[in-house]
Amino acid sequence: MSDSEKFDCLVVGAGPAGISAALALARAGIQVAVLERGEYPGAKNVMGGILFTTVLNKLLPEFWKQAPVERHVTQRRFSMLSRDGEVALDFRTGAYNEPPYNHTWTVLRSKFDRWFAEQAEAAGVMIVPGMMVSELLVENGKVVGVKTEPGGDELRSDVVISAEGVNSFLAEQVGLRRPHDPRHMAVAVKEVIALPASVIEDRFRISGDEGSAWEVFGQAVQGTFGSGFVYTNKDSISIGVGSTIHDMTRHRLNPNEVLEQFKRHPAIRPLVRGGETLEYAAHMIPEGGFTHLPRMVMDGLILTGDAAGLVNASHYHEGSNLAMASGLYAAETVVEAKRRGDFSAATLSQYANKLEHSFVLQDLRKFQRVSAYFNENPHTLRDYPDVMVRLLSDYFTVSEKPKAEIEKEVIRKFRSEIGVLNLVKDVFKIGRAMR
Ligand SMILES: Cc1cc2nc3c(=O)[nH]c(=O)nc-3n(C[C@H](O)[C@H](O)[C@H](O)COP(=O)(O)OP(=O)(O)OC[C@H]3O[C@@H](n4cnc5c(N)ncnc54)[C@H](O)[C@@H]3O)c2cc1C
Repeated sequence: MSDSEKFDCLVVGAGPAGISAALALARAGIQVAVLERGEYPGAKNVMGGILFTTVLNKLLPEFWKQAPVERHVTQRRFSMLSRDGEVALDFRTGAYNEPPYNHTWTVLRSKFDRWFAEQAEAAGVMIVPGMMVSELLVENGKVVGVKTEPGGDELRSDVVISAEGVNSFLAEQVGLRRPHDPRHMAVAVKEVIALPASVIEDRFRISGDEGSAWEVFGQAVQGTFGSGFVYTNKDSISIGVGSTIHDMTRHRLNPNEVLEQFKRHPAIRPLVRGGETLEYAAHMIPEGGFTHLPRMVMDGLILTGDAAGLVNASHYHEGSNLAMASGLYAAETVVEAKRRGDFSAATLSQYANKLEHSFVLQDLRKFQRVSAYFNENPHTLRDYPDVMVRLLSDYFTVSEKPKAEIEKEVIRKFRSEIGVLNLVKDVFKIGRAMR
């Protein structure tokens, strides 16, 4: 790539947002290059990882026939851990065994991102790995290209799509977003643990290519505002924990130690027993949601994916499909801007309209009060799991006490430890936060 070369569009970052944008642009005949700091796409990327694939299936129909996906998820499990117990909602259905497999796949990003980038390359995208964008070039208030490392080369383009992920230094450089607030940024650590496929299938009660996804709250993250997860791959499991930096700091928690404790919990230990750790990674997740979104465009620049804070941090835990959808909308906007020969913020603001009318911003708006609720009501995740496990344990303890008496005692304890009114208030507030 020569110093003086000018592209129609430069994309920073070869994650799901960047590659979706680039693939759609190349198909529309736009000359596009993706600059990726990792030595290959996916080399530096971390995700739980469930890949939600409604958008991917539009870009690459029936992608699962070729893509290096791990398992399609047929079982979802949401649970709360007390110190030594668990209350769970476990859901599975054979309906998710049929194409398009409920658009829910476990993946290992180092394999998947590489493959996804190859599909973009085949469509005409130039992928440049090992190149970090150190700053945006701005002239007269308009982004006109990027400066790269190593070498300090300047590359020019009509428009830049930032798909640089959570750190989003470039957005900060041009004032589209403020430095991150620790209450709205989660830190997550994750391990990939090797286990034979047959062991995984027995432990999670799944067969063939079926997969299982567990989201775990309460003592999984020592009662902080966050969660743990366990996802099944073909012959490994991904296990991790994540919580807001604010909560981790406030409770003097070390994320590595939280993960170790999670793995030692009696409800989790049997799942990982005998496994060998293959990978360990740490990463951040932007969890500010709708109320903390940055400005999405300026002259010559569009923000996508995590760089734009597009993560649904409710119990759905979706980032991948929001990233891909935003990449696709950014590409459609650039195609229109190219047709008009106008890359101003006014034209690029079509992108914000597209987000607004899609599930991306509609979902973020719906869950906009969730983070505030849990920040203001830490007892919900800290105390409720313990009380629930204790009450259920009393309820099911076998004795010769008449059942009616046991029920009365449990109800009395429930009233004194939580209280009907408090529970009703919390359920109402959570319901309102999710409306
Ligand atoms: C532990 C964890 C678990 C998660 N689990 C899930 C899950 O199960 N399901 C889900 O949907 N989402 C999950 N997420 C969120 C999901 O990973 C993100 O929302 C998604 O990856 C965002 O995609 P992106 O393309 O915007 O950014 P990224 O995937 O972060 O990609 C950004 C790319 O930009 C590159 N880059 C960064 N800076 C530069 C630069 N200056 N120059 C050049 N290249 C650069 C990076 O190397 C990277 O390749 C999880 C996140 C974490 C951390």
